[in-house]
Amino acid sequence: MSTTAEREAAVYMMSAGRQPVVLVRGEGSKLWDDGDKAYLDFVSGIASDSLGHSHPKVVETIQRQAETLIQVSNYYYTLPQLDLGEILLRESGMQRLFFVNSGAEATEGAIKLARKWGRTHRGGHEIIAMENSFHGRTLASISATGTARYSEPFGPVDGFTHVPFNDVDAVRSAVTEATAAILVEPIQGEGGVNVPADGYLAALREICDAHDLLLMLDEVQTGIGRTGRLFAWQHEGVQPDVMALAKGLGSGVPIGAFLANERADILEPGDHGTTFGGQPFTAAVAHTVLSTILDEEIPEQVAQKGELLMGLLRSLQDRHPAINEVRGKGLLVAIEFSSEIGAELVVACRERGMLCNTVRADTLRLIPPLVITEDELQQAVDIIDDALTSIAES
Ligand code: PLP
Repeated sequence: MSTTAEREAAVYMMSAGRQPVVLVRGEGSKLWDDGDKAYLDFVSGIASDSLGHSHPKVVETIQRQAETLIQVSNYYYTLPQLDLGEILLRESGMQRLFFVNSGAEATEGAIKLARKWGRTHRGGHEIIAMENSFHGRTLASISATGTARYSEPFGPVDGFTHVPFNDVDAVRSAVTEATAAILVEPIQGEGGVNVPADGYLAALREICDAHDLLLMLDEVQTGIGRTGRLFAWQHEGVQPDVMALAKGLGSGVPIGAFLANERADILEPGDHGTTFGGQPFTAAVAHTVLSTILDEEIPEQVAQKGELLMGLLRSLQDRHPAINEVRGKGLLVAIEFSSEIGAELVVACRERGMLCNTVRADTLRLIPPLVITEDELQQAVDIIDDALTSIAES
């Protein structure tokens, strides 16, 4: 490991922050390191390996498409992006979409769209976004992100107002003549797996309708089945005007999209572009991923598995008073502790064969592949149980 860490320090710009593991292989919800130690994967590529590792249908599509056509640019028509786009529009009820390569690009595209829409329709381009949010690492998306440490060194892009998450009145008071849109994650992922009160999205929809604003949902982490519905807004039936997707859409290959309804469908030729976005390779894989998720009714299974996981974790609370709260939806779950034991717990779990990460010093996040089995969920809870016992004893 030290050799790998030394090599990396000499090569990679940001050599801090890695867990000391070299991962070499994966299958389903399991990963193996270079010493052949197995781990249950509760990070799943930060919620992106939706169908787990080396899913046979994904592998077959990758092989077939690699032999057929990988990349040609959007100067030409290609069919996989149309096949994929048609399903996404059918399932979401949106009007049109644009393919990109990552979550940051998806929110960046949504922000550009809102700024143009605002200038054309309302005379202002400001976006109300939430404190504690995360929208990616491009210059505009870090400015939308309500966590100052990401944007401070780079200077914010103008046009974002931040209000507390889950506070409808704060949004209402922040609306001005210059506002064009509200940008929000249905559940804040990186900010701590914060689930808003029932009715929050509906209230934001009402504000948008009353003031003629766009409701833009960042479903990069919550989308594609992660919360137990294909899109998290479907829990409450609150249709957005714009939606950003990425992560689980490609089950490991980099693809994202932003989608607009009729009202927001205003980008014209030349407004936006991409070399790789929607290329045949990633689009074909995402088409297989999305078809599999829909055909096998994976969101419904995720809803059940999420209930099971949260129930098992809550049953640990009696034995482990350090657990403050278990929260989440579907397989986007967090355990909040009464003290900052997150980092220690990540190490203790890793030693016991489970990978997970913290979203705050006192909060552990669990985001396994959507195809994880009930048996594996139980194994993970046993590992957390044992790890907590050993931390309490020490
Ligand atoms: N939006 C949300 C809600 C996210 O959780 C993330 C990543 O964690 C992003 C955007 C950025 O995605 P990416 O890292 O693919 O650029």
